[in-house]
Amino acid sequence: MAGFWFQQALLPGGWADGVRMVEQGGVIAAVTAGTAPEPTDERHAIALPGLPNLHSHAFQRGMAGLAEVRGPGEDSFWTWREVMYRFAHRIGPDEMQAIAAMAFVEMLEGGFTRVGEFHYIHQDVDGAAYANPAEMGAKLAAAAAETGIALTLLPVLYQYGGFGGQAPGPGQKRFLNSIDGFARVVEASRAAVATLPDGLVGVAPHSLRAVTPESLSFVPALAAGGPIHIHIAEQIKEVADCHAWSGQRPVAWLFDHADVDGQWCLVHATHMDAAETAKLAASGAVAGLCPITEANLGDGIFNGRDYQAAGGLFGIGSDSNVLIDAAEELRSMEYAQRLAHRARNVLGRADTPSTGRVLFEGALAGGARALGQKDVGLTVGAAADFVTLDATQPSLAARRGDALLDGFIFAGQRMVDGVWRRGRRVVSGGRHIVRDAVAARYRLALGTILS
Ligand SMILES: [Zn+2]
Repeated sequence: MAGFWFQQALLPGGWADGVRMVEQGGVIAAVTAGTAPEPTDERHAIALPGLPNLHSHAFQRGMAGLAEVRGPGEDSFWTWREVMYRFAHRIGPDEMQAIAAMAFVEMLEGGFTRVGEFHYIHQDVDGAAYANPAEMGAKLAAAAAETGIALTLLPVLYQYGGFGGQAPGPGQKRFLNSIDGFARVVEASRAAVATLPDGLVGVAPHSLRAVTPESLSFVPALAAGGPIHIHIAEQIKEVADCHAWSGQRPVAWLFDHADVDGQWCLVHATHMDAAETAKLAASGAVAGLCPITEANLGDGIFNGRDYQAAGGLFGIGSDSNVLIDAAEELRSMEYAQRLAHRARNVLGRADTPSTGRVLFEGALAGGARALGQKDVGLTVGAAADFVTLDATQPSLAARRGDALLDGFIFAGQRMVDGVWRRGRRVVSGGRHIVRDAVAARYRLALGTILS
């Protein structure tokens, strides 16, 4: 059992002063506001719940910055994807664990306490099966165990190279599974996370490019009530190809062919018309937004203003992990809207004027739903996952309540001071407690991959 006391903390009902929190067995056992600290309490100035990172491909952290080089023609998502395929083909199980551990260290340092791994490298470098169908997923689970981050493992169903069941390309051979083979991957994934505290498993049809209507129909049973994630409508070419194949845009097609509800997370959903935006907002599904990656890849801008006006749920993900920082994801999300609409505080709400508060609480609730996390926030029964900010930062000086969130998200750099997972401190002074060892192993792995 451990006691903590915060000068200010963001509770489910809003900011409170003098908050005492008791952790027992990794879970929050009591929260009392307006009270004095007990003599043995650990004291901190500002506490927030840890944020969920709902969409990550951890291995891509290793190629961050390596695709910022102009090719002979016009660079695009599709030329980036070729670089990513070449990188993916050099990663063995040990490299997977080393890179994922580095990415998870940086996620915790950046204010994330749970990650959804949208995991599609299932086969060995020749495309043959590993003895353990979840060999690579087990390495992600091992990296989560090493670093302490909570993991929702989302094994990916990937079968085809384009809409309508087109043959996959050679760059996709490590991703492929039959339905039966994929069922074995899902089962082995459950075994891989079984020993992780708070480990969860969902299922992710990669995209409408990579599955057929028939294979998509198997997904809900395989998910067994867990989250279902899909990449959708990220690129204009994808929308055009979907339309050529089916006569419909991707989001519209999905709603007509699957029971999209609160179990689902539509990752990106960048290109939606007004009807699709309204449908997604009303469905209870979560829009999985990855603003840094979407900007890096030149995807386009999510229809955030109308989606929010319609009450849609969203969460944020670090996706390609080109840069890992929860505050910067939220800032990028709002800034894209400002640039698109030539306006300020586009995602702020009349009932919650602080844009930072709207972004933070939206990403907390939507991310938790998308990752299957039941209890969320600094509340009794939830895992004791929380973040403290460095109160000496200039942009937090003399601020209270929501102004702290606005300072953290819009005016700060690396403001996270401490991070606790299940009441155990994993980040101190902004650095993960095993950063040095993880970084050394990461450098060795990158040396092997890039040699
Ligand atoms: Zn992705």
